[in-house]
Amino acid sequence: MNNWTLVYEDFQPSMESLREALCTLGNGYFATRGAAPESVADEIHYPGTYLAGGYNRLKTDIAGRVVENEDLVNMPNWLVMKFRPEDGDWVNMMSVEIISYRQELNIKKGVLSRSVRFRDRQNRETTLIQRRLVHMANMHLAALETTIIPENWSGRIQIHSSIDGTVINAGVERYKQLKSKHLEPVKSGTVNDDIVYLLVETSQSRIRIAEAARTRVYYENKQIEVNRDLIEEPGYIAQEFFIDTVKNKPLTIEKTVSFYTSRDFAISSPAPDALEALSQARTFGELFESHRMQWDHLWDRCDIQVSDNDRTQIILRLHIFHLLQTVSRNSIDLDTGVPARGWHGEAYRGHIFWDELFIFPYLNLRIPMLTRSLLLYRYRRLNMARLAALEEGLKGALYPWQSGSNGKEETQQLHLNPKSGRWLPDSTHLQRHVNAAIAYNVWQYYETTGDPEFMATYGAEMILEITRFLASITSYNRESGRYEILGVMGPDEYHDKYPDSEKPGLKNNAYTNVMTVWVLRTAMKVLSQLSPKRRHDLQETIGLEKTEIDQWQDIIHKMRVVFHDDGIISQFEGYDQLVEFDWEGYRKKYGNIQRLDRILESEGDTTNRYKASKQADALMLFYLFSSEELHELFKEMGYDFDPQIIPKNIDYYLKRSSNGSTLSNIVHSWVLARSARPGSWDLFNRALESDISDIQGGTTHEGIHLGAMAGTVDILQRCYTGMEFCNEILYLNPRIPEGLQKLMLKIKYRANWFDINITPEELKVTSSRYRDFVAKICFRGKEYKIKPGDTLKFDIKG
Ligand code: BGC
Repeated sequence: MNNWTLVYEDFQPSMESLREALCTLGNGYFATRGAAPESVADEIHYPGTYLAGGYNRLKTDIAGRVVENEDLVNMPNWLVMKFRPEDGDWVNMMSVEIISYRQELNIKKGVLSRSVRFRDRQNRETTLIQRRLVHMANMHLAALETTIIPENWSGRIQIHSSIDGTVINAGVERYKQLKSKHLEPVKSGTVNDDIVYLLVETSQSRIRIAEAARTRVYYENKQIEVNRDLIEEPGYIAQEFFIDTVKNKPLTIEKTVSFYTSRDFAISSPAPDALEALSQARTFGELFESHRMQWDHLWDRCDIQVSDNDRTQIILRLHIFHLLQTVSRNSIDLDTGVPARGWHGEAYRGHIFWDELFIFPYLNLRIPMLTRSLLLYRYRRLNMARLAALEEGLKGALYPWQSGSNGKEETQQLHLNPKSGRWLPDSTHLQRHVNAAIAYNVWQYYETTGDPEFMATYGAEMILEITRFLASITSYNRESGRYEILGVMGPDEYHDKYPDSEKPGLKNNAYTNVMTVWVLRTAMKVLSQLSPKRRHDLQETIGLEKTEIDQWQDIIHKMRVVFHDDGIISQFEGYDQLVEFDWEGYRKKYGNIQRLDRILESEGDTTNRYKASKQADALMLFYLFSSEELHELFKEMGYDFDPQIIPKNIDYYLKRSSNGSTLSNIVHSWVLARSARPGSWDLFNRALESDISDIQGGTTHEGIHLGAMAGTVDILQRCYTGMEFCNEILYLNPRIPEGLQKLMLKIKYRANWFDINITPEELKVTSSRYRDFVAKICFRGKEYKIKPGDTLKFDIKG
């Protein structure tokens, strides 16, 4: 691999599904896994196409209960392209002898290609070359180009090109016992001889999906006519035809596809619009050019360079690539959120979690319109969140832990432990901290862009309603004279209740309590920054009384955080009473113990008993806040928090984490960046490997981990540069680890672009020439003004 391409030089059946996820192509509107065009879902392959926000609900009878799940639907497979010499088998990689094989994901151009030479049972040698794209500029188009060269033979070849809407959701083994058929056939047909189309509908959400495919044949570089047979079955349409080929003469088939749904804007009806789009679509070569150009423009702004040619660079780009394929300009206004696993597979059902917290910082600093749109996904679901709070007898808005179509709580009621085969109740919806993350994201967007309109129109209302909710889950404990939050879970999913309790929920999770204080304080700040008129109107609209705000102030001063005797922040009340876990013993016994919860449950034990966490929890505080900010927060709460104790806290929890979530290495790398740079760099590199090396041992094929991908990029972008924003000042304080030779990036801060170049010796900041904006930069405590076109240089050795 060079630093723009991911290359696989062999065909490995056991690796195929992982590569399919990593080689997914998408454009923020729809995505298609990098499965071989001739493949169907089996033990090796899993072709999948997903519409951003294309969900459907199904009910299943399981473990004596009827459960309902909302899933990201596997849409009709447009890729299907098969061929065979007239008297031979349909070619697939298992039925031929592979002479050479190369699959290449070109990240710069957004193209996946495959070049295979093979020998069939009749000793015919053939070369197959395929290229595909999902168009970044025209979001409704995709294309596949197939070139077949008979190397040592001449004869007839049969081609099969189809759209398969009989697919089901079968991408996640653990979900196999759940209902999986989401699509119902509606209509299919053919137009102009070379076009077929298929219209299907999801069974509950009633989204209509139209896909149309135009298949054209080129022989000796000229388009030729062929006699096509039509195969039509419910939910399936194909064309088959024969072509006479001559030894060494390439035959090229272009399949151009359009994808429309009833959720689209600016359409009349999906099928006619899909056909119309196809009638205007150009050749593969022309589509490729406009697609490549769009990627060039994107990379110009979005690339981050770290070194000339090494693994770090390529993986970093792969992460940015998948981020931009999941959410892009095309997603703006689509009313979708950013899914934890990309639109790359079916794990977590395409749901939206708190992972936005790790993803938005990259987007804020490049395509803030996109973050705005993703925040609006939350805003539109504010009423649903209000209803959820009301149903619990609480005030404000309670956002769900897992969100899908309409903002209802989508967390599964039961989950399967594949190790024990048992279906277990799922209490993860008790992670109320997702609400704090949403408020935090609104504020971060506002700080980076200074977009007062967004804050006044949407952001403030979300923050205030979340604040009310968080305030209403606190209770005052007369004995301690402090407010508490009971019955919740922190980010660490290994602890959902006390070992001796039947009821889920924990007391005083430090992260939730401190975040609540942060949100309450931010709400006050927001109120003070709104214009008097807007403040009055908003308070009146949501019925926010002064007494309520006064109570927030009281909560801020009296929120409870539990500490161990030696000053360690207790992850939750009672954590210190838990048993120390035998890390060494279990590592010896099981090797990979990242999913300790499954291991212990299968042994009849539970992680709830131990000082063992799945992921960073209390340490999240050091991830989100600087030591100065934390000092201030704790001071407000009436605690004397000595920043000197931070390294001790980090050490304590690092030792007790199994890193069962890919988010964990991100947080751990970040929190070590100031105190133990080599350790931070090691963890950063480990986080980089999360998906490309599938370090969780078999989860990436079900979908990438977008939070970890974006998190690695953000470590470079904000953590190692020491980038912060406060009161319209851009703070930079680089501390780059030894392994990093350079760091070059562009950021958009308050509508102005800056080039930032860092070497071990120097920090260089250049402001874009094209704006009349004097920005303030702070380096090591000193403020500087930077005019358009100016470059500032700082010595960072000292
Ligand atoms: C993690 C959560 C995360 C979710 C989706 C879980 O395994 O524990 O923190 O939000 O995955 O990425």
